[in-house]
Amino acid sequence: MSERAKERFVEILYELTLAVGTTLDLDHEVNAFMDWLAQSIRPRFASLFLVDDAHQFLHLVAVHPHMPLQGERLPMGVDPWTWLRKQGIQAEEQDGVQQYAVPISAEGQVLGIVCLVSSASPETIEDERTVVEAGAGYFAPVLRNIWRYRTLEQQVAERTKALAQSEAMFRALVEQAVVGVYLIQDDQFVYVNQAAADIVGRTPEELIHRNPLDFVHPDDRALVAQMLRRRQRGEIDAAHYTFRVLHRDGHAVHVEVYGKGIEYQGKRAILGVLLDISKRVQAEEAYRALVEHSLQGLIIIQDDRIVFANPAFLRATGLTGAEVVDRPLEEVLTIVHPEDRDAVCALSQQVLSGDISPATSTIKFRYRRADGQMRWGRALGGRILYRGKPAVQVALLDITRQEEARQQLERYTRFLELGNTIVHNITHATEIHTLLSTTLELLMEHLEVNMGAVWVLGHPEQPSTVYRVLRGDIAEDDPRVHEIVQQFRHIPNVLDRPMVIADVLDPQQTLPPVLQEGLSALGIRAALAVPLFARAQRVGGLALAVREARAWTREEVILVEEIGTEMGMAVERLRLIADLEEALRAKDEMIQNVSHELRTPLTMILGYTELLQEGILGDLNDDQREALSIVHRNAGRLRFMIDRLLLLQMLDERTLERSWFSPTAWLEEVYKRWLPEYQQHNVNLVLHVHDPLPNIYGDRHLLDEVMDNLLHNAQKFSPQGGTVRVRAWVEKEELYIAVSDEGVGIPPDKLDRIFDRFYQVSQGLSRRFDGMGIGLALCREIVELHGGRIWAESEGEGKGSTFYVALPL
Ligand code: ADP
Repeated sequence: MSERAKERFVEILYELTLAVGTTLDLDHEVNAFMDWLAQSIRPRFASLFLVDDAHQFLHLVAVHPHMPLQGERLPMGVDPWTWLRKQGIQAEEQDGVQQYAVPISAEGQVLGIVCLVSSASPETIEDERTVVEAGAGYFAPVLRNIWRYRTLEQQVAERTKALAQSEAMFRALVEQAVVGVYLIQDDQFVYVNQAAADIVGRTPEELIHRNPLDFVHPDDRALVAQMLRRRQRGEIDAAHYTFRVLHRDGHAVHVEVYGKGIEYQGKRAILGVLLDISKRVQAEEAYRALVEHSLQGLIIIQDDRIVFANPAFLRATGLTGAEVVDRPLEEVLTIVHPEDRDAVCALSQQVLSGDISPATSTIKFRYRRADGQMRWGRALGGRILYRGKPAVQVALLDITRQEEARQQLERYTRFLELGNTIVHNITHATEIHTLLSTTLELLMEHLEVNMGAVWVLGHPEQPSTVYRVLRGDIAEDDPRVHEIVQQFRHIPNVLDRPMVIADVLDPQQTLPPVLQEGLSALGIRAALAVPLFARAQRVGGLALAVREARAWTREEVILVEEIGTEMGMAVERLRLIADLEEALRAKDEMIQNVSHELRTPLTMILGYTELLQEGILGDLNDDQREALSIVHRNAGRLRFMIDRLLLLQMLDERTLERSWFSPTAWLEEVYKRWLPEYQQHNVNLVLHVHDPLPNIYGDRHLLDEVMDNLLHNAQKFSPQGGTVRVRAWVEKEELYIAVSDEGVGIPPDKLDRIFDRFYQVSQGLSRRFDGMGIGLALCREIVELHGGRIWAESEGEGKGSTFYVALPL
């Protein structure tokens, strides 16, 4: 720098010291600095950026040549030149134009930046830069001071504002508080707010400088005086208690105070908060009265302790007040049945946490009363405020009677269902042994009994026939069991009624000694035995037994007794059926035997009559011949019937001798065979077989027997001149053959029965048809052996009948 330039430099800087740093006004100082820059350097363009407090942005605060700015700023780190160009703020670049930036920094902190487009020549540009740098160096502390001052000013303003606000707030709070606030010093009120004065029905002014004790209820004065004294002396710092004050009109008001010792104007004072709790006290008193007389047990639980229990609760549990009140909840919970304890605990927890719905707020549980009795209770939990703190109130209702009734009903229903199942079983049994064993097993399972026996005595004529079923924990062949069953049989009247033994060893038990010994020997402690009756006759017994004493319930006894009766009847029924079947078998056997026996002599009769008829034993006159032919014909009919009887007895699957044959040809042959007989009785016989019929596979000889029987009957029951039609057709894989007549017809209720052996529809006395009632039985037997069906249809008596045979193809 030349001497001239140095002089100019000092001059310019001197001008700057005159221009800036004269005020604490930022705008003024910025403008002064920019004016100085413009006049002393004469740049083409200059801009001044200042860093913000947060050091995040550079704010453009001034531009030369002057232009209005609207708070433009650029983030720190962005090149100001590029940014200026984008804003359209900087003049266009020109050749040979120099631009540079100079930071403004103080105490190592950058406060801003000056960007310049110089008009200096390349020779003087360095000098110019030195001037700008020096200027910036001078301007920096000025800026710094302004900022410092500003921050300080701001802080002061904020503090003042906050202070004013909190003071106002405090005053408003105290003045308008719904709680009473007071200050006591030297046994006098020095401050009382409106709410505190209201409690005693006065104005704050009336209370100031008065002794607080003047307003306390005489009975509580000693207490309050003591509390005040202790705080005055600094023995205690704060006190929280309740007492009564006197209202101006004479009544007592319950208050709660919270008083704290403080320093006030250099002296000890008590700042207190006063609360009118008369409503709460009243509510509590009302609640207490209600609860004391409530029939529902009530307890209040707070902080896991029972803090209150009403007389009804003590009555319900049989506990004394001392055993409940002020005891931990856990301890009192020991009366609850262990299985229900968790549920009860959970209820109290849920109520406390508020996580409860009407569905979960009540539970059923068992508890032990002090006298040892188990009772059922229902607990209803609710959240209440007790002495100003949240608590759980539990109401207890003794629901033992309802619960017992409900259980009884359930038991009844169960027994009813069980009874139904067993009776169903019994009525559907087809065999005595299964009947006895399944019933016994069902009973034992449902009554949870581990030993059971059922026995049925033989017929009086065969006393040794005994059905016996033993189940469970007992050996079938144990001779002692047999002995007991025998005892039941032989001791007179022993099982005329149910025998209920709760405990074999009970001396009160009126059990025949033999039985008692027998049962004890088997290790049986309790038993229930009922007779099986059939038609007022004892036919056996049913017994259930267990190895421990057991009080059989009324329902159990009734159920077992009922089952015994049902079983007795079922046994009788099955026996009757068995007897009937036996009788039928015997009858069949006899018929077969008789038929056999008859056949030989009949053959002899037929043989000799034929010899006689042929004249081999000598000539016969006409009368003799006539008589012989009658003998021969009837002997023939007799043999025919005997043969059919024998056939019916011996028919079974194996007797079928099947072959393939054409039904059309067969029916035509049958028709031809029967036509003369029909003509003889003046009955028309018609055969209709239109469609070509497929061959069938059957025993032609036996099927002939079927057609013979049907045609014989049709003719027999037809009036003279009547018509019998035989039709045949195919329908759904079956060959149908129908034989219709115009005869006497069959009553609808007899349509099925006529196929039974030896069954004949009664025709009254007017007319009598011969026959034995086995023809249709034989037909059915044969058709069914072929896998087919046979049935009859009739419009009723006198309207003819149609017999259908359907044979599978
Ligand atoms: P029966 O040897 O008595 O004819 P069936 O077994 O052939 O024996 O017939 C049994 C009974 O069915 C007859 O006694 C009769 O009452 C009745 N019955 C059979 N066929 C006819 C018919 N076509 N019309 C009326 N009743 C009939």
